[in-house]
Amino acid sequence: MHGEIVPYYQPIVNGDTGGLYGVEVLARWKHPKSGFIPPDVFIPIAERSGLIIPLTKGLMAKVVNQLKPLLPKLPDGFHIGVNISARHINAPSFIGDCRVFGKGFQGKEVKLVLEVTEREPLIDNPHLVENLNTLHNAGFVIALDDFGTGYSNLLMLSVLPAKELKIDRSFVSGSHRSEKDAALVEAMLLVARRLQLRVVAEGVELSEQALQLTQWNPDIVLQGMLLGMPMPQQRWLVEVLGEPDAAAKI
Ligand code: C2E
Ligand code: CA
Ligand code: CA
Repeated sequence: MHGEIVPYYQPIVNGDTGGLYGVEVLARWKHPKSGFIPPDVFIPIAERSGLIIPLTKGLMAKVVNQLKPLLPKLPDGFHIGVNISARHINAPSFIGDCRVFGKGFQGKEVKLVLEVTEREPLIDNPHLVENLNTLHNAGFVIALDDFGTGYSNLLMLSVLPAKELKIDRSFVSGSHRSEKDAALVEAMLLVARRLQLRVVAEGVELSEQALQLTQWNPDIVLQGMLLGMPMPQQRWLVEVLGEPDAAAKI
């Protein structure tokens, strides 16, 4: 299955300046008959079967191949986020897999972000904290994904070496009109500020949301339909980097 898994890239931008902060890599399964299959369909199956490990490794290799030639055109400190399953973090190959990914960008000013995401309790994973600490010390950014939902909770912030917090879109979508959602987002921003964490707001679809979030925290970074949907590398070159001829050169 992993031979047909391809990376899509969703732009992430700085709330105050609108400048490019980075991308999140999102897997798509290129099926010969059904077209592009979204990750919600195949990731849970890959996690259960263990295929998630070769799948993620293969995806990382493709990301290196596709993004490395573009780095001179990207801002310094460009963030490249990949989603990591807890099952992979606990695997003996995990640290080595991430180091290979990091080596792919050696000599370039990039920040590799490991978005920790899981549908099962992370804390039950014996080597998880140790492995994430090792990678944090090696310069990887650990991000807590879907913050505020599922097992992405305050305890995780206390235990994991997280430097980035991704506020789940279920809070972001109501933040400009619902007092309750606004209060919850403001509380998350306060926690993040006290812990000196970068905040990414996910699922930003409206300019009202972007405006509100940036007023609350000018350092916030934004991801969502308003800023750009996930797209393949070649479309990204054209739409985000504004290089209509670039796709042909690579
Ligand atoms: P996620 O990590 O929370 O990724 C963000 C999801 O929100 C993506 O869905 C993206 O397409 C979608 N999205 C972005 N902006 C908007 C918006 O403005 N509105 C709405 N309604 N949706 C928006 P996608 O690509 O279908 O991925 C779903 C989930 O699958 C991801 O959620 C992530 O948990 C998982 N996933 C994707 N790729 C991988 C992977 O390579 N490995 C692992 N372990 N999980 C992955
Ligand atoms: Ca994610
Ligand atoms: Ca998320």
